[in-house]
Amino acid sequence: MGCRKCNRDAVMHAAYSGADLCEQHFREFVERRVRHRVREDNLIPASATPENPQRWLVGLSGGKDSVVLTTILHETFADDPRIELVALTIHEGIEGYRDESVDACKTLVDELGIEHEMVSYEEEFDVRMDAVAESDPMGMAPCAYCGVFRRDLLNRHARELDADLILTGHNLDDEAETALMNILEGDVEQIADHYATSIAGRDEIEQADDPEFIPRAKPLREVPEREVALYAHLRGLPAHIAECPHADRSFRGEIQTLLHDLEDRHPGTRHSIMAGYAEFGALAADTYGTLKQSSSEMSTGTCERCGRSTDRSVCRTCELLAAVGGNRQSEK
Ligand code: SF4
Ligand SMILES: [Zn+2]
Ligand SMILES: [Zn+2]
Repeated sequence: MGCRKCNRDAVMHAAYSGADLCEQHFREFVERRVRHRVREDNLIPASATPENPQRWLVGLSGGKDSVVLTTILHETFADDPRIELVALTIHEGIEGYRDESVDACKTLVDELGIEHEMVSYEEEFDVRMDAVAESDPMGMAPCAYCGVFRRDLLNRHARELDADLILTGHNLDDEAETALMNILEGDVEQIADHYATSIAGRDEIEQADDPEFIPRAKPLREVPEREVALYAHLRGLPAHIAECPHADRSFRGEIQTLLHDLEDRHPGTRHSIMAGYAEFGALAADTYGTLKQSSSEMSTGTCERCGRSTDRSVCRTCELLAAVGGNRQSEK
């Protein structure tokens, strides 16, 4: 097979578009889609100037997705004085998994020369995910605790690092899985929330004067997982390829298998799911008002334990920490 652009040997065949591409044109194809998302989602506001640059916090786990995203963003913006990148790595306390990916993060940030912060559940909350998965006092999947803790740390450190935007490396498969799960669960409010935090352009969010709110973006969300992996491999990027031993394979796993099957038989399924879902999500977001700085972040009161804004008397992080015997270590 020859590259459709230059006839050199192809390294990939995209069944959804019918394109065969050589290494160089494949790399450009991945990079172009990331830059396209940055533009389409209006991630750089007009107020960004060399004197008043935007600080972008990239969640860097050391897996292929965040390593590819960090690399492409760095290469795109290293010479653009309007953008400053800072990477944040969160160690969840998962033996034999996170240690290696933290090494991959260090190698990458050293190579790229970008600012890097590392935090851990152990230092911040006095808990390790291995122990939480073992005890599971609330009878939930480990990821349900882990997701709350990670979100709490991402938001707090983004504020401390003075970030204007939080970027994460979710790929097309991740997003199509979440979309299908939300649809199958019949949770329209969740769809509205997902739209506001993952799909809406930055200019669509009505940002009220809330210093706690930091918008999010997923510029890799048009690139299929297999292509992210191939890109990391071809470029020899220091990504740690392994699955977390506590990964919730139950429902998401079934959806993943279903999507792979559908995509094999009907190439383009993930793209069409996301196109229709984005349109539906915009309507749902309008109905539920989630674009007003994302309602999940908007709250009316403060947590009686940590003082952060929440709609409940105790925020979800403090509630889960109490259940697993953890504590906020750093501050009130
Ligand atoms: S798979 Fe689940 S438990 Fe493992 S790091 Fe991710 S969210 Fe945490
Ligand atoms: Zn080519
Ligand atoms: Zn709290």
